[in-house]
Parts: sequence; structure tokens; C-alpha cells
Amino acid sequence: MDSSLVVYNSLNGKKETFLPLLKNHVGMYVCGPTVYSNVHLGNCRTFISFDLIYRYLKHLGYKVRYVRNITDAGHLENDADEGEDRIAKKARLESIEPMEVVQRYTVDFRSIMAKFNALPPSIEPTATGHIVEQIELIKEIIIQGYAYEVNGSVYFDVIKFNKDIPYGKLSGRNIDELIHNTRSLDGQSDKKNPQDFALWKKAEPVHIMRWPSPWSDGFPGWHLECTAMSTKYLGSQFDIHGGGMDLKFPHHECEIAQAESITKKAPVSYWLHANMLTLNGKKMAKSTGNNILPEEIFTGENTLFKQSFSPMVVRFFILQAHYRSIVDLSETALIASEKGFYRLVDGLVKLDTLPVSDHTTGFDFTNWLNKCYAAMNDDFNSPLLIAHLFDAVKYINSVHHGTLTISSEDTQNLQKYIHDFFFDVLGLEKPFKEIPSKGNKQLNGTLDLLMILRNKARENKDFGTSDLIRDTLNELDIQVNDTPEGSTFKKN
Ligand SMILES: [Zn+2]
Repeated sequence: MDSSLVVYNSLNGKKETFLPLLKNHVGMYVCGPTVYSNVHLGNCRTFISFDLIYRYLKHLGYKVRYVRNITDAGHLENDADEGEDRIAKKARLESIEPMEVVQRYTVDFRSIMAKFNALPPSIEPTATGHIVEQIELIKEIIIQGYAYEVNGSVYFDVIKFNKDIPYGKLSGRNIDELIHNTRSLDGQSDKKNPQDFALWKKAEPVHIMRWPSPWSDGFPGWHLECTAMSTKYLGSQFDIHGGGMDLKFPHHECEIAQAESITKKAPVSYWLHANMLTLNGKKMAKSTGNNILPEEIFTGENTLFKQSFSPMVVRFFILQAHYRSIVDLSETALIASEKGFYRLVDGLVKLDTLPVSDHTTGFDFTNWLNKCYAAMNDDFNSPLLIAHLFDAVKYINSVHHGTLTISSEDTQNLQKYIHDFFFDVLGLEKPFKEIPSKGNKQLNGTLDLLMILRNKARENKDFGTSDLIRDTLNELDIQVNDTPEGSTFKKN
């Protein structure tokens, strides 16, 4: 197994050689979505980043158990364990059952991730399916002396824990600073200290999602489910824990405290965090309108961009930035990525039709391959890998134009590894199947007619018909773009 893989560990802010606890096996846990609304594009970025990591580890030959949870027991709106349960709030607003909310948005999440060609995790456990495990964990933490019950709710005692085991290792916050920066309790709370966090909350009579427990009819605190599910499926110590940067504190810090309060050992070897995605230079937020859903990008039905972009172009755009850098989504950036993506696909297609010579000129395959692996082994540097793929495409074009040559052996090598990197590691797909583009008058005429009909339907706001035309063509690998001037199609 390749031990030259180096990963950036958020725990100490250093790049470290990746050594799994069990030879050839990797246990990886990633915090999944809370399913109370359509999946956020920023979350998609996080999951696409970990999809790249999962794919690369598999490519290196590791047996990976990838666990990503579904948060379906609504946690409260703010981190101070107050406010309304988000899933219950949505259910109340739409007059449906909380589990209908959960079902609707779990289906939406899986369908969007499938469009992005993200591999499903090995296990996708739900919080509501692990209430028993969470209750058992709370009992353990109480036995260890780091949790207390007040009026049917149970809280983790951060101050007491910190006396024995340092709290704040991951976020780099020390307890004095935290005490200084947290507002004092308003008298409404049952907590001993404002830094304490809920392990179990007693449910108010109106609260719908509730379970019996030794302390009250209630529901678990959010941080607890990830400790319960990660340790159940990966053991008390495992290799990689991932999530978005925003989860570092308090969520991941609390996960560490919960696990360590029982085992007195660090639960995770490598903490990996994906950075955020901004839109037109600003933080994405529903409240300011600076927000776009993945589906709105794919269909072009949004007010921000003039054209639509396929899921593969968006995925490619995301992978063109390193997972730890902030990436800014804009129409200009997506247009640039679209061009790059098609250039890469074009190279891939040309590679299969290159004239073969006795020897190779102007390209060192071994050196190129080493550079590709060096990029990915350096903390999954996908933008650098893509740059190397573009180098190869440049060379392919030169052979195609007859200025350089390629041997049969190098043709086979290049085909194998470009395919490996493009399809398996980066998880990209060709945007279309090869269909004849020249000399097919009937097909082109029919497509033109369909575009006219689709434009007419859109003018009449008959979106049922316009969507039917687009979706049917998409299934035939013909991409439809909506521009202010009307709809156009793209095929090979
Ligand atoms: Zn989590």
C-alpha cells in the first residue's frame, strides 16, 4: 500500500503521513446532512470533497468503510441548545409529519449526490435509528462522572471534563477563553455552565419527535449521534473523521469530548475539514438572496446565471480548487470550467484515435504519472492533478496534429491512467455518448424543431412541456442550455 500519502490533520495543523490503524483498511466517518430542506450547495462541496478522498483511498487499494450519517432527529436551531427543532418547524409550516420532511429531503439529497456522481457511503445510518445507542452512551458518560441530569435533561460537564482531559484540542480554543467569550446563562437554562452542552433534552408537550429514556420523554443532543454512530460502525478509534470547516467547533470538539470521556483515548487519527463555497464573492445565505440550489444550476431556472450547467461541470469546477481552499462560484468561473471540462473530454476522445508510431516524442510518460500521483498524495491536490491532465491533453493534441508522436505502449499507458484519474479518482463522467454530428440532417433538423417548441413552451410558461423536452433530451445525452435568447442544445 502506498505509504507516501500525506494528509493535512486539522488536529495539529500539520501534514502527516497517512498510516491507518489496521493495515490496508480505512475507517472514515463524515458528518452528513440535516434533512429539513434541499441540500445546500456548500454541503455538496463538502460531500464531493470526501467523495474524492474516498475514491482516491480506494484507488490506492485500501478497503474503505465510509460512514456518513443522516441527521433526521432535528437538532435545535442554535448551538446553545435553544430554539426550535428545524425538522419539526418545517413539518409545522407545511402541516406534514416530521418523518415526511425527513423522507422528502433524504430522497432529494441522494438524488443530487447521484447527479454529482458521488459514490454512496458504505453505511448511511440515521440518528433516529440509533436512539438506543445514544441513550447507552449518555449512561456511560454519567457513570464516568462527566454528565449531570437536571429536570429530565442531561448535560455534558465541560468544566469537569477539562480538569481531567484538555477540552478544545481541535478548535484550538482553551477553556478560559471559552468562558470569557460565552454569554452568561439567562436563568432559563438548567446548565451549570454556559459551555456545557445537551446530551438529552426533555421534550416540551408540543414537541413531536420524542423517545422514552431513563431521564424523560425527549430527544438526543445533536453532537451525540455522530459519536454513537461513528464508534458503533468504526470502533472506539478510527482513521478519518471529516466534515465541513464550520463543524469544527462546537460539533467536532464535542464529539471528541464525548468519546474521550468514556475511553480516555483520542477517537480519531486524522481530522479532515473541507472549506466553504461562496457565491459571487459573498457567503451564501437564504436571507440575503445570495443563494442557489444545485438543481437550479442544472436546469438554468434561477435569477443569478444566464445559462445552465451540467452536474459534471459543477463537480469539475469544485475539484479545480483544493478542498481546503475557499472556492467562489460565479457564472464566469463556471463558464471557464465548462470549457476546460470539454477540452479534457475532447482529449479523452481523441486519445482513442491517435496514430501510433514506433516511439514517443515530446512526452515522458513515467515522469507524468509520478507527478499525477505526487499531486494526489499531497493531501488530495485535485487542482494539480487536473493541471497534469491538461498537460497530457496538450500532448494528445500535438500528436493528433502530427507535430509529436506516441508509441503503442505509451498510448495504452496513457489511456489506462487518464481513464483511472478522470473516471475513478475525480469521479467525472463523459457528458454525452458519441452521436453522429455531421451528415445527419434529419437528426439536426428534429433537434432544431424541438428547441423551437421548447422555447415556445417557456414563453407560454408551460414548464411541464419544456421540462419534458429537456429531460428526455438529457436522457439521450443531449444537453439543453437556456439562455436569454432561447434554448440551445449541445451534442458531440
Ligand atoms: Zn457530526
